[in-house]
Amino acid sequence: MGSIIDGKAVSEKVRAEIKQGVSELFAAKGLRPGLAVVLVGEDPASQIYVRNKTKACEDVGIAGFQHSLPADTKAEDLIALVRKLNEDPQVHGILVQLPLPPALKGLDIATYIDPRKDVDGLHPLNIGNLVTGREGFRSCTPFGAMKLLESIGFELQGKHAVVVGRSNIVGKPMGMMLLEKNATVTYCHSRTPDLAAEVRRGDVVVAAVGVPELVKGSWLKPGAVVIDVGINRKADKKIVGDVEFASALQQAAYVTPVPGGVGPMTIAMLLWNTLSAARRFSESR
Ligand code: NAD
Repeated sequence: MGSIIDGKAVSEKVRAEIKQGVSELFAAKGLRPGLAVVLVGEDPASQIYVRNKTKACEDVGIAGFQHSLPADTKAEDLIALVRKLNEDPQVHGILVQLPLPPALKGLDIATYIDPRKDVDGLHPLNIGNLVTGREGFRSCTPFGAMKLLESIGFELQGKHAVVVGRSNIVGKPMGMMLLEKNATVTYCHSRTPDLAAEVRRGDVVVAAVGVPELVKGSWLKPGAVVIDVGINRKADKKIVGDVEFASALQQAAYVTPVPGGVGPMTIAMLLWNTLSAARRFSESR
C-alpha cells in the first residue's frame, strides 16, 4: 500500500515561503508584486479558476488585477489589453485564462505577452529557455509536479520517467523538466500502441491526458511514483484524475490524489513565478 502525496500541504508550505518573499521585497524595495489575470467569456470552470487565482494572490500579498472580457471580444482588443499590461509597471505577471472562446481559437495569445511577464511559461521564448536549460518561467502545472517529487525527496537521476500526454501546457514541458533532472524520459500519447507496457517501465509516471482513470494500478511498476495531473468530471459530478486512484495506491509507493494533488500546486507555482518576475523587475530598475 502506497502513500498519498498531499499537494495541499505542500502548496501551503510554498505559499508561506512566497508570502515571506513578498513582504521582504516590499520592505527592501517598496515593490508589491502584481498579477493580471485575463478572462474572456463566461466558461464556469474558467471563472472559478480565475477567482481562485485572484484570491490566492491576495492571501500572499500579491496584487491581483482581474480583467473580464465578453465572449465576443475581438482578437485585436484582447491583444491591445495584453500590450497595455505589458507596459504597466504595477503588473509583473500576466495570465490569459485558457481555453479562449471558440471565436478566438486560432489566436496564439501567449506570443503577445512580454516574456518577462509570462508567468504561465507559455511564450515560445520561455519554452525555448526550458528546452535549452536556460533560466526562464516554467509552466506552472509541471513545475508544481516537480515540487511534489521534490517534497518526497525523490531522486530522479537515472530513473525512468513516463509522461502520458504531450500537450504544450503540461506533457511536453513536464518531460523536459524531468530530463533536466537527469531522468530517462518516455513520452506517450494518443497514438502510443501499448500504453500499459510503456507505463510499466516508469519509476515515475505522470498522467496528463484528460481521460478519467485511464491508467490502471495493474499497469504500474511496483513502487512507482505516480503524479496524476488529470481533472475530469464524471457523469455523477465526481472529480477524478487520469489514474485509477485506489488500484494505483495498491501498486505504487506514492500517488497524488485528485483533487488535492497537482491542482493546488499549479496556483502556488503561478504565485512563485509572479514573485520571481517582480524580483527581476526590481533588479532591472
Ligand atoms: P490536452 O487535451 O491538451 O492533451 C492531452 C494529451 O493526452 C494529448 O497529448 C494526447 O495525445 C494524449 N492522449 C489522449 N488520449 C490518450 C490515450 N488514450 N492514451 C494516451 N495518451 C492520450 O490536455 P492537457 O491540457 O495536457 O490536460 C490533461 C489533463 O490535465 C486534463 O484532465 C486537464 O484538465 C488536466 N490539467 C490539470 C491541471 C492542474 O492544474 N492540475 C492543469 C492543466 C491541465
